[in-house]
Amino acid sequence: MKVISTGKKLCLSCMEEHEVKRVEVQEENIFKGVRVKYTAKYEYCDRTKEYLTYEDSLDTNDLAFKDAYRKEVGLLTSQEIVEIRDMYDVSQKDFSKILGWGSSTITRYENHQVQDGVHDDVLMKVASDPKWFMELLNRAKRELTDKAYRKYLSKAKEHYRQNQNKYLKESIEADYTKYEGKSNLTGNAGLNIDKAVEVINYLAQNVPDLYKVKLMKMLWYCDCLHYKREKKSITGLVYKALPLGAVPERYEVLVLLEGIEYCEVQYDEYIGYKFKAPLDFKVETLSNAEIRVIDEVIERFKNYNTKQIIDKMHEEEAYRNTPEYQPISYEYAKSLSI
Ligand SMILES: [Zn+2]
Repeated sequence: MKVISTGKKLCLSCMEEHEVKRVEVQEENIFKGVRVKYTAKYEYCDRTKEYLTYEDSLDTNDLAFKDAYRKEVGLLTSQEIVEIRDMYDVSQKDFSKILGWGSSTITRYENHQVQDGVHDDVLMKVASDPKWFMELLNRAKRELTDKAYRKYLSKAKEHYRQNQNKYLKESIEADYTKYEGKSNLTGNAGLNIDKAVEVINYLAQNVPDLYKVKLMKMLWYCDCLHYKREKKSITGLVYKALPLGAVPERYEVLVLLEGIEYCEVQYDEYIGYKFKAPLDFKVETLSNAEIRVIDEVIERFKNYNTKQIIDKMHEEEAYRNTPEYQPISYEYAKSLSI
């Protein structure tokens, strides 16, 4: 028994006024054939040695008991159900409507009733799949107020975007596992996508009219120059020798990541992708040494047009000695022209 607090009051056990303790007690109980342990709260009378429930402690003790059971059998706890509902900022009633359940189902699950396995699976899916939640939301649209519908939809979209970004990152990371242990190709550094995004934005912020081809070359120069100085690339990106010069492996996914912004500019024959740093961009993970290297690359190439930087790249020993479409070794950094 653990004492949480004491206070003088009329004791409902001995019916006299005295210091009454509020205590926590470890209890054991059986629910659906499963024995579980949980912490219950009571008031305790020293004179009668009796435990009494107070205010809503009967409910909270019951909830602690049910949650212990849910944990034991791998169901979502009442608190986790609240968190899933909060994720979409939706009321208990509306959540029940969206899921197509009885109007007080969620309220019961968040209080005293243990959900069954099927409903548990549905809740788990809602938590992990905002796109599916949007489908359910649309189905229930007519049962919701317009204002509520729009609020939930905007929350769901926000989670969907975050999820998308997570998937994109994971797909790049999965692809890069094939380079594990090949430090000459990764520049002795593990892939750091957040840093890659930051380098791109730092370049976009400081180089006027930064188009895709030039950006890719400048990224390579940043990583390669840093490797030349510190025996370590900045981003861990692997670059391949494409006809127009070095291009990071999975660059087409890289530029779709959240935080990278570009606009399409239509020319006579092709579309250009012009990069711009987000207005609120600031450096968070790059070190001062890394920034110095990037600044140097910017100083060197900011006024180069696309053709000039491609020509420059084509002259690099790293490029001349790497077969087309093969990864470029960072070992060539020592002969880098800058
Ligand atoms: Zn008493």
